[in-house]
Amino acid sequence: MKKKTKFIHGGISRDPYTGAVSTPIYQVSTYKQDGVGNFKYEYSRTGNPTRESLEKLIADIENGTHGFAFGSGMASITAIVHLFAAGDHIIATDDVYGGTFRVLTRVFNRFNIEVTFVDTSDLENITAAIQPNTKAIYVESPTNPLLKITDIHAVSEIAKKHQLKLIVDNTFSTPYWQNPLDLGADIVLHSATKYIGGHSDVVAGLIVVKDEKLAKNIHFIQNSTGGILGPQDSWLLIRGIKTLALRMEEIEKNTAAIAAFLQAHPQVDKVYYPGLENHPGRDIHRKQATGFGGMISFEVKDEAKALSVLDRVQYFTLAESLGAVESLISIPALMTHASIPRERRLELGIADGLIRISVGIEDQDDLIADLKQALEA
Ligand SMILES: *Cc1c(COP(=O)(O)O)cnc(C)c1O
Repeated sequence: MKKKTKFIHGGISRDPYTGAVSTPIYQVSTYKQDGVGNFKYEYSRTGNPTRESLEKLIADIENGTHGFAFGSGMASITAIVHLFAAGDHIIATDDVYGGTFRVLTRVFNRFNIEVTFVDTSDLENITAAIQPNTKAIYVESPTNPLLKITDIHAVSEIAKKHQLKLIVDNTFSTPYWQNPLDLGADIVLHSATKYIGGHSDVVAGLIVVKDEKLAKNIHFIQNSTGGILGPQDSWLLIRGIKTLALRMEEIEKNTAAIAAFLQAHPQVDKVYYPGLENHPGRDIHRKQATGFGGMISFEVKDEAKALSVLDRVQYFTLAESLGAVESLISIPALMTHASIPRERRLELGIADGLIRISVGIEDQDDLIADLKQALEA
C-alpha cells in the first residue's frame, strides 16, 4: 500500500463491530466480561477501541508494528524516558524542544537520569559523549527554531555499535515526509498536537516501535503510568491523518515560495529552511526525507523590527505551537526560548530578531503579500 492510501485505509479503517466507515468514539471506561477474565477489552486505560484504531493507524504509517497514544507529546516523551532507570545516561540533541529539555533537566534529573546535550548534526559530538552508562540517543531533525539536520541513519549505526536505543522526535517532518524507523531508529515519537492533528484543536502524543519486546515495555508503562489519550481526541487524530498528505503537500508548496520570497527580501538578513540551496543540512535531509516541511525561521535586524512585523501581519496568527492549517508566527527569543539566558541563546544562533513561522494552507499570494507589507511598513 502506498503512503497516501495508507492514510485512508491503514490501521483499522472500518469499525469491526458495526462496519461504520468513521471509527466510532467509544466513550467508555469499562466493559462487560462474559465470565471472569473473558473479555476483549477490560478497562480503557489498558485498551479502548477508538484509541486502538489510532494506534494501529500510526504504527502503519510510521512503518512500525505497534503504536501508542498519549495525552500530549510530553506524556509520550515521559513514557519513553520511563524505559530507563536511575543511573542511566542519555545523549540528546542540544536544541531539542524546550519542554523536552525541561522534563529531562528538571524532572528526570531527580530520578538520577543523566543527560548530555550535544549538537547531533556533528556525529563526532555523539561518539565523544558516550559513557559506560549511556543507554540512548535522543534526536530531533529538523530542530526548532534553526532547522538543523541530523543524519538519522548514521546516528543509528553509532547506536547499534554501542547497543544504545535511538529515539527520534519526528514532529516536524511528520510520517508523510520522514520515517525514522526505516532509517534505523528504535522509537519514533510525535507531538500529534502539531501536524498530525493539524487543526489547533487537540493536544496529543504518539509513539511507534517495531520491536515486540520494546512494544511490551511501552504498553506496560502506558498502562502503569496512565498518560493515555481519550477516545474523542483519538478520533480527532484519526480524522487529521486522513488529510495529512494533502495538507503537507499544500503547506510545502506555500513554504517553498515564502522561503524564496524571504531570501530575496532586503529587510531579511538570514533564512533558515532545509529546502534552500544554502542550508547546510540540505543534502542529508534530502537523503532521509521526501519533503522539507512547513517551518521557516528568518532574521530581521533586531527585536523591534521583529515585533513590528508580528504587529502588522494579518494572516499569521501570533501563537505558540505549529503545524496547523492556519499560519502561525512567533519570536523564539521572547516566547519558546525566553528561558534561555541571552548569551547562551545567541551562541545557539537564536538572534533577537529571529522570527519563526509555521506555514498553513492559506492562499500563497495572500501569505506573501502579508509578509511583504509587514516587512516594508
Ligand atoms: C510541541 C512539541 C513537543 C511537545 O508536545 P505537546 O503535545 O505540546 O506536549 C515535543 N516535541 C516537539 C518537536 C514539539 O514541537
